[in-house]
Formats: sequence, structure tokens, C-alpha cells
Amino acid sequence: PSTKRLTLVSNRLPVTINRSKNGQFQYHKSSGGLVTCMSGLGPDQSSNWYGWPGSVESHHNCKVRAELMQDHGAVPVFLEQELASRHYNGFSNSVLWPLLHYQDSLIAFKDCDWQAYQKVNRQFAVEIAFNAADGDTVWIHDYHLMLLPQMLREETEKRGKRLVIGFFLHTPFPSGDMFRILPVWREILEGVLHSDLIGFHAPSYDTNFKRTCSDLLKLVELPTGVQFQDRFVRTSDFPVGLDPEKILDCLQKDEVKRRISALKEQNPNMKYIIGVDRVDYVKGIPQKVDALDLFFEEHPEMLRKVTIIQVAVPSREDNPEYRDLATRIHQRVDEINTKYGDQSYQPINLIHQSVPIEDLLALYASSDVCLITSIRDGMNLVSFEYVACQSERRGVLLLSEFAGASERLAGSLLFNPWDKEGTAAALHRALTMDMDERTVNHRKAEEFVMKNTRYGAYDFKYPSRLRKLTCKNRSA
Ligand code: UDP
Repeated sequence: PSTKRLTLVSNRLPVTINRSKNGQFQYHKSSGGLVTCMSGLGPDQSSNWYGWPGSVESHHNCKVRAELMQDHGAVPVFLEQELASRHYNGFSNSVLWPLLHYQDSLIAFKDCDWQAYQKVNRQFAVEIAFNAADGDTVWIHDYHLMLLPQMLREETEKRGKRLVIGFFLHTPFPSGDMFRILPVWREILEGVLHSDLIGFHAPSYDTNFKRTCSDLLKLVELPTGVQFQDRFVRTSDFPVGLDPEKILDCLQKDEVKRRISALKEQNPNMKYIIGVDRVDYVKGIPQKVDALDLFFEEHPEMLRKVTIIQVAVPSREDNPEYRDLATRIHQRVDEINTKYGDQSYQPINLIHQSVPIEDLLALYASSDVCLITSIRDGMNLVSFEYVACQSERRGVLLLSEFAGASERLAGSLLFNPWDKEGTAAALHRALTMDMDERTVNHRKAEEFVMKNTRYGAYDFKYPSRLRKLTCKNRSA
């Protein structure tokens, strides 16, 4: 099996393309979890990666294809601009994303976007099937490509090739009652079910998926998967983790240490609460700000002793829903800073931009509390990163029970972000917790983060389970 190829597929290629002033194409490896996972695949594994490279003028396609393949093992799937937008901004992010995160009021289903979603999935299937060899293993990522397992089977079987197909969902999977809101729920479910192995980050997503298949499609559900047509489709959870060594090494850098000291010197008695979220409605930033308002109202003695540093990373700014959210967050933060602050003290410091890793780690290490208010979240890596930076301070992780990480991370204080009073009370408890309790909690959380590393379940177990499945090995 080590000679068989592993093909990775995601909506975007892990390479960013820019044009230099003299018109040359420049390629940079993108950051992020998927990219790291590719480097963890092991030396016996030849792999290539399919995805959309971003918009490229069509007369440059051949050149870009050759350069991407040669230098990055990447195979571009070129998409026409409007098609790409209807697929990504339309069906993926305005239908599937809110659906999978239980935000039914935000679902904007349009038939033209659904057509585009099918077309893009088909285009990926045709390109992969054309190049794939019989017996290859293909690992498909995320909600943008949920029809691809079925389309890829159709396209390869036409060519007399059989593949082992894995699909990994990086978001939650909701209950069947939620999922059936989707007018095309059957097509999406059956699309994914043409995989051999389906992976999720949390056990409850796996359970919801199997229950949905049994409720809506009347499939037979077993603890290890579901029977679909002539194949047994295995499903399980493979939680993603961090590369803790990398974080610990980075914390030792002089630059990071300097930033930590600077924060301390600025205000030695200040307690910091850190929040790090993309500006996305699933992260519950308005709920967080409302709870902070209540907290300061109930505990005026905490004013000038506590500052919230909220990193709000810009996200999906093409989408008016996300732009409105950013405006609402700024307005609410301004209101609170006006209500409780003055020129010398602002309770909330909103940083509406992405920050370099050195700053991020210094902020994590300097904070007594990390507040995560996601109303739904596939996993939430910020919670793990905070724990990895807390061996000295042993700060308190306040974690929404709706983040996938809450199913795993012992030692965190769980709360319901929809309960403003409960959130404010949890915040007070976290800020006043004694060091003995902080230490006990931190040790439990740290043990999990250090054991469940990036090279654990997600990067190692999932691809190795996938590789072990052969094309014939399909019975329970
Ligand atoms: N992050 C980043 N830039 C920033 C701040 C944070 O890339 O300016 C990283 C952060 O370190 C974390 C990731 O973004 O690894 C966020 O992952 P998470 O699972 O918490 O949420 P997601 O954004 O994937 O929904």
C-alpha cells in the first residue's frame, strides 16, 4: 500500500498565488491546519493536492498548472469567477455553513447556487478521476465538497478504476431535525455516503450523522458506521490537535518573552481576559460582549482591574452578513467602553485584524482567563493553544459547551453562551479562582492537549485507517 498514492482534496489549494510587479507568479504555502497535516503524512506516502488556486486569468492556466505541480505537488482546479463565488459564497457559506452550525434563520437557499455547487463538485470529480490510478486513496476535506465522493465514484467507475475515498468534515454535524431543513438533504447525504471512511472532530457529530442517516434514509446504523447500498461506510471521530512542541519552542523566543514582559510592565496588576475569534456569527462575539456588559454592571469593583483583549480576525468580508456583524461588534464595544471607561481605561480592547503568532502567544501567556463563547464550533483550536501557553500562569479556560473541544477538554469551565447571567457568573468565578483549583484544572487540560497532538488522531489515525481500507474491504 505504501506505493499507492494519497490524494488530498480541499476547496482552496494550500498555496497562495500573487503576481510580482514584473508580472511573475509567486507561490506561497498558506498557513492553517490542512497544510500542517500534509507535512505529517510520512515519507512513504506520495501525495498530491487538488483545489481551487484562486482566480487566475485563463490564458495563464497552463503555466500556473505546471509551476504548481512542479514546486508544490498541487493540482489546480480552475473555476470561472462567478461559478466559484456561487459555490463558495453562495451554497457553501450561505446554506451549508449556517445549516451545519444550527443557524437556520441565516440559510439563504438559491437554486442557482445549488447548481453551481453541483457543477464545481463535478469539475473536481472529473479532474481527479482523469489522473487517478486504480486503487488510489483520496482524502476529501470539508463541506464545500460533500457531493464529491459520489461524483468521484461515478467518474472513476466509468473509467474502470476503483478508489478508496475518505471524507472529513471540519464543522459540526447537526441533528436530523435540523439537517432536513435543507431542500437537498438527500443529495448531500447520499453524496457523502459514497465514501469508505467519514471522519468528524467530535463524537456527537458522528452520532448525529449516523442517526440522521437512519432517520431520514432509513439506513441500518451500527456503532462503527452505516450500511449504504452495497457498502459499509465507516464513521468515527478523529479529533484534530496542536503541534505543542512548535508552540512551546515559539514561547521561548526572545521576541515573545519581550512582548510578555512589556504587557506586564504596562500594568502589573491588571488581569487580562483573552478572546481570539474569526468575525463569524458562530463565535458568539455579540453574546460575549453582552455578558461582559452585565459582568461589569454586577461587579463595578472589577473595573480598572480587568481588561478584555479581543482579537477579531476579519473573515468572509464579501458576505454582507459578516460585514454587518463586524459593524455591530464595533458599536457594542464602543458603547461598553464609553459606559465603563475613560481616557485612561478601556475595559475592552478590540483588535480587528489578524495578529502575528508571536503576539498571539504572548497574549495567551499573559492572560488569566480565555473566554470562548462559540454558539457552535467544529472544534476550536484557540482553546488548545491557550492551554499550551499556560504552564506558568495556569489560567482558566472558560469554554462554551457548544464548541467541539468541550467534548474532550477536561479542566475547562463549561458554560452556555446563551445564558448571559450564567456567563457573567462563570467569568467572576474564573477571575477569583484560587491557585490550587487553577492548577488542578490546568493539569487536566494540559494532559489532553499534550497527548492529543496534531500527529495523533487526525493526522495519523485517520489517514492510516483510510490507507488500510482496500477497495474490496467493504463489509462491516
Ligand atoms: N489565528 C490566526 N490569526 C490570528 C489569530 C488566530 O491564524 O490573527 C489562528 C489561531 O491561532 C487558531 C486559528 O486561527 O489556530 C483558529 O482556529 P479555530 O479552530 O479556533 O477556529 P476557526 O477559525 O478555524 O473557526
